[in-house]
Amino acid sequence: MDDNMKFVNQCRAKKTIENLAKGNINGYLVEDGNDAIEIIEKILKEGDTVTAGGSITLKETGVMDYLRKGRYNFLDREVKGLTAEDKKEIYRKAFFADGYLTSANALTTKGEIYNVDGNGNRVAATIFGPDKVIFVVGVNKLVDTMQEAINRNAKIAAPANAKRIDKQTPCTKVGECVDCLSKDRICRKYVVIKGDYDKDRIHVIIVNQNLGY
Ligand code: SF4
Repeated sequence: MDDNMKFVNQCRAKKTIENLAKGNINGYLVEDGNDAIEIIEKILKEGDTVTAGGSITLKETGVMDYLRKGRYNFLDREVKGLTAEDKKEIYRKAFFADGYLTSANALTTKGEIYNVDGNGNRVAATIFGPDKVIFVVGVNKLVDTMQEAINRNAKIAAPANAKRIDKQTPCTKVGECVDCLSKDRICRKYVVIKGDYDKDRIHVIIVNQNLGY
């Protein structure tokens, strides 16, 4: 990304952060994954119990590897050999965690966080439970309106995610949402977060890079 594009993204991110603050959501603008990790270290304490939703952004920024380095009691749903029951237990423990990390399907410059889940464990934990919720979001996910957020999910995020996890859905054939009735449908729980009562709970770290889907 060249400096001109970075500048435009910085302006959009700053506007987003101002609007997030109106809903008691803390916003940060950083340049890369290492900067994002520095912010995370200020939000979470050493020894905290932490877990995370599946996220390409967390992988690409190095955050997922960082969580596994031992600073936290990391409840890792991606450990090899976990059964469906083991994963379900981690999903439930997320509600009692000190911290929960994920990305978003879209973030509006009005300060709204948009996520769509199949199972719903990720969106549930972002709404209520963990003491701190941290979204790490690339600037490619910034949109201006809720309709654009919905479109972004239908045109980019959901088809790419369905492809990633090898779902037999129409979008993995045609590359966009057709609002399917497939048994493999990954879009089942739609959540918009516009704020929180607790001004220390939700944190959105916007990374000035194209990340995830
Ligand atoms: S509703 Fe179906 S077709 Fe649309 S993105 Fe979700 S899984 Fe794909």
